[in-house]
Amino acid sequence: MKEFYYRRAPDVPGAVALLDADPHARYLAGGTNLVDLMKCGVERPARLVDVRHLPLDRIEPAPDGGLRVGATVTNSDLAAHPDVRSHYPMLTQAVLAGASGQLRNMATVGGNLLQRTRCAYFTDTTKPCNKRTPGSGCPALSGEHHNHAILGASESCVAVHPSDMAVALTALDAVVHYETAHGTGELPLERMYLPVAGTPHRETALPAGALITGVSLPPVPVAARSRYRKVRERASYAFALASVAAAIDIRDGIVRDARLAFGAVASRPWRARAAERALIGAPATAETYAAAAEAELRAARPLPHNGYKVTLVRNLTAAVLSELHEEATR
Ligand code: SF4
Repeated sequence: MKEFYYRRAPDVPGAVALLDADPHARYLAGGTNLVDLMKCGVERPARLVDVRHLPLDRIEPAPDGGLRVGATVTNSDLAAHPDVRSHYPMLTQAVLAGASGQLRNMATVGGNLLQRTRCAYFTDTTKPCNKRTPGSGCPALSGEHHNHAILGASESCVAVHPSDMAVALTALDAVVHYETAHGTGELPLERMYLPVAGTPHRETALPAGALITGVSLPPVPVAARSRYRKVRERASYAFALASVAAAIDIRDGIVRDARLAFGAVASRPWRARAAERALIGAPATAETYAAAAEAELRAARPLPHNGYKVTLVRNLTAAVLSELHEEATR
């Protein structure tokens, strides 16, 4: 591992000032992804600015009736919070579906959103990779890509975003708050992740040196009945082959509101807007749920070895919506 300087940030302004002074520095929080990437040589920062102890570890009610979650709240604390469990159950389920108990105790909300892809070529510095070394090529296109993207990918990169939490937060219209040396800002999470296009090394729209300070969850009444379902290759812990975050409100046999997002199908959490449009106002039937999944997956462009994901997401979506339907009409 390359040698680096370590510095505990004195406070948020001090943290962003340190990054402003050294654009090659990195923020360190739980370290559950960054430290691994440093060990394998993908990340080689000369300086780490430790932000874990900053006072950003609260979950508080927001004036609009939603929640404000600090960036250094651990995954475990987020999943266990009573307001998250009761108002946004898909979020608790998504967080608990990610990683192991030990990792969730260390990993933070801000770090989770910024974790990098687990594409095996990305973490193998002996291989070319456009995301790691722009212009070097994408061996996954003709190589191992059974867990790569089916939606929104490009010839430059077909990697998927690994976060479970971010899928639920995308379905819930979460907003990311950040601070730089030049002030504060916010971005809807859905817009924070950039389309992959020809620049897969540019992953977010956050300004240079931005420190994520928190995430806002608006009130989402439909989310009180919601679910996150993840399919993975082993039950203990693993990244998703596909996942679905879903919420649905049914009254008088009609779908009145719905939220839907897919995980592990694209370079970012995939908000299934076409499916939501197909659901809202339609009869609450199994046919509607299947048609909604189909509406979203028309845009799928699978690779030779990941076409199974189209079937998997279609079936997963229909199954989760049917389960929520049963709960709502019981
Ligand atoms: Fe790199 Fe993306 Fe290709 Fe993986 S899919 S090798 S991350 S460019």
